[in-house]
This record gives sequence, C-alpha cells and structure tokens, in this order.
Amino acid sequence: MRNTDLFEMAKRYMPGGVSSPVRAFKAVGGNPIVVEKAKGSKIWDVEGKEYIDFLCSWGPLILGHSHPLVVEAIFQQAQKGLSYGLTNVHEITLSQMVCQLVPSIEKVRFVSSGTEATMSAIRLARAYTKRKYVVKFDGCYHGHYDSLLVSGGSGVATFGVPGTAGVPEELAKLTLVLPYNDHLAVKEAFNKYGEDIACVIVEPVAGNMGVVVPDFEFLKVLRKETEKYGALLIFDEVITGFRVSLGGAQELFGINPDITCLGKILGGGMPLGAYGGREEIMDLVSPQGFVYQAGTLSGNPLSMVAGIKTIEMLTKEKPYSYLELLTKKLVDGISELLKEKGIPHRINWIASMFTLFFTRGDVRDFKSAKASDVDMFGKFFRALLGQGILIPPSQFEAWFLSLAHTQEDIDIALEKIKKALGSL
Ligand code: PLP
Repeated sequence: MRNTDLFEMAKRYMPGGVSSPVRAFKAVGGNPIVVEKAKGSKIWDVEGKEYIDFLCSWGPLILGHSHPLVVEAIFQQAQKGLSYGLTNVHEITLSQMVCQLVPSIEKVRFVSSGTEATMSAIRLARAYTKRKYVVKFDGCYHGHYDSLLVSGGSGVATFGVPGTAGVPEELAKLTLVLPYNDHLAVKEAFNKYGEDIACVIVEPVAGNMGVVVPDFEFLKVLRKETEKYGALLIFDEVITGFRVSLGGAQELFGINPDITCLGKILGGGMPLGAYGGREEIMDLVSPQGFVYQAGTLSGNPLSMVAGIKTIEMLTKEKPYSYLELLTKKLVDGISELLKEKGIPHRINWIASMFTLFFTRGDVRDFKSAKASDVDMFGKFFRALLGQGILIPPSQFEAWFLSLAHTQEDIDIALEKIKKALGSL
C-alpha cells in the first residue's frame, strides 16, 4: 500500500492519524511517510523507499536502528518474561550504571517516558521544598505534563498561561516562564519570587526550540540562585543524557543539578525514563518517603536490557569524538552548500545533535529561533525527503547522528542535499 492511502486510513482511527502530533508533518506540509522497517542508519517506508535517517526516533538511537547486541538482549529476555511487576535483576544493574555514570545521581527511579520523569521530578521538588512555583524557559519542552505545558506572556518573566486546551489557568499560573540563556531574567525572578520557587527545570542544552547551546554563565547563575534561595535545580537530560557525553550535559559543563531527568538513550529505543538525584532528595519517593509515584510497567526487563546494552556499548566504545567528527563533517558540508546558494542560515550544534535554522541572526533563545523562515524549512524538508533523507519534520527540532552512520552516509547525504537544494 502507499503512504498516502495508509495515512488516510490512520486518520480514521487515530486523531490526526498519529500517536504523537509532530509525526503528522503539519509543520512542513505534505503527507507523512508510514514506516515499514529500519536498520542501522536507514529507514524504509511502506513503498520500499530508503532514507538516511537523521531523525533517529528523536534521539534514543545513538547506536542506530536495531543494533544487533540490543536486539539479541531483548530477544533473550523476551523468552524469560516481558514484565514481572516485581523487581528484577536488570533494574538493579541499570540503576547502578546510571548512578555511576551520571555525576549528580545517587539514587534513581525508573518510569516509562520522559514526560513521567519530569512530572515526577516536579512533584518531588515541590514536596522537598514545600513550595509551589516552578520556573521553566520559553522554548524548552519537558513532555506534556500540565505544569510544564505552559507558555509565557509578553514580559521577560511572566507567569504561565495554558500552552494547550485542558490545562487549568490556576495551574499554569504556578509556572514562571523566562527566556532561555538570560541569566539576568533568572536573577530578577529569584529576587522577586525566590522564597516561593520550588524548582527550576531546564534543558541544559536546548533541543526543542532547535539546538541552543547554553552560555556557561546562564547555567552557573541557575545553580547559584537556586542554591541561594533553597530551590532545586532540575536538569532535563532526556535528550542530552548519554548524548553530549556519557555523564550528560552536567558532566560536560561541570554543573551538578539536584534532580536529573533521563529518557531516550537510556532505553536504547524501548520506552524508558528515569529521574534521580541526591539520596536525601530521592528518599522522599514512596515507599521510602511520602511522595507517591508508581508504574505497572516501570523497570520492565525489556527496557532494562535494551538500556544496559546501549550504555555498555557507549562505555566500551567511547564513541563521542567519532560522532562529533562525523557531525562536524555533515554540518560543515551543509553550511558550505547553503553558502554557495546564498541561503541565509545558522547551524547550532554540539556533540552529535544539531539544528539548521534558516535565519540570518544567531539563535540563542526561542525568540531568535522563531525568526527562522519556516516556509523555507518546509520546502527544504520536502526536497530532502524526496531525495531519501529523513530529518525532523519541524524547524524547531534536533537532527541526530548515530554510531551506525558512516562517512559514506555523510558523503551520500551531502550529495543528496545538494540535489535537493538545486530543486528549490
Ligand atoms: N524532555 C525533553 C527534553 C524531551 O525532548 C522530551 C521529548 O522529546 C521529553 C522530556 C518527553 O519525553 P517523552 O516523549 O518520552 O515523554
């Protein structure tokens, strides 16, 4: 069957035809593809068309699709049980690995998604501090939890308004929204409301307004102000965990948050999230403490073994400088092609994630990201798809590379991008 026919059918049974909104390609126009299979750096649609995949399932697949060791571990485990609803030995192994690798984590609780991790972290921070207010940054996404699905008003530091239908205004008002990378706004907010702020949650490298690398001063001020006022600092490392380095952004920048949220790579492509931090904080979580949080499939052995194998590979192979070189080759190549065509652009990148923004100015927060030409991005996306290159279907997302991508993939991708640009 064709992509279009299947998607029409999908729309009859699922809202918008998808299980997560951005998959409908609304931000770029055109029809979404329906996936048949994937392997390594490639993905195929139901029409048999092959794409080099720079979406990588939005980040988890740092080893590429279906890495043989991960698949074998899942296969072996599946024969011994899919879920027990009781503690299993793999949970203990993975929790130990996380505590050893992520600098600020002494204890960790597994959940099934990034959203669950951030939601639970906020609840824990509110319980620990006995305060209500949460600070978040405009353009950062932390999953679809009510308190975090808010947008800012027109001022620099504003109390949130619901970012979607269904979030009560009363709840949105408990979230203070500040511009990313603006350390002065952080100081001002703490000066005014510091005694009532439970926590600050931040993507220590933003990925959800497109990639925005933080000023070191910004992260430093976050750490200093939260400490000064007794609020907790939450690093949402759902994307950056095991991506920008084994120990995440906190290891890279040398700044320890109080609570860390993990997801994506942690589960190696299986549904998995986690939140962790200092023992003194984590021991407030039930049944040790009085902050309730639970999950039927939490710690399920399939996600555990996929996570263990993925992190074992990363620990053994230490692929970060290779991935960085590969990413640089792609980023430099794209930039060169765009310069030749005289197309204004900026590329923000770190480690093996990057975003190409169609804009003239530097992108350092959501406001500057939004100055990008999204129509141009839509045309670029569709031309790339036509050439067999899959990138995130939105200007405000990150491209990811994996260990399965080869130098040859990058050469081929650049050739195809050149052709695509020629057709614009
Ligand atoms: N936090 C960040 C930084 C994310 O990028 C995402 C998802 O993309 C989430 C949280 C939510 O994770 P999930 O989609 O697994 O609920």
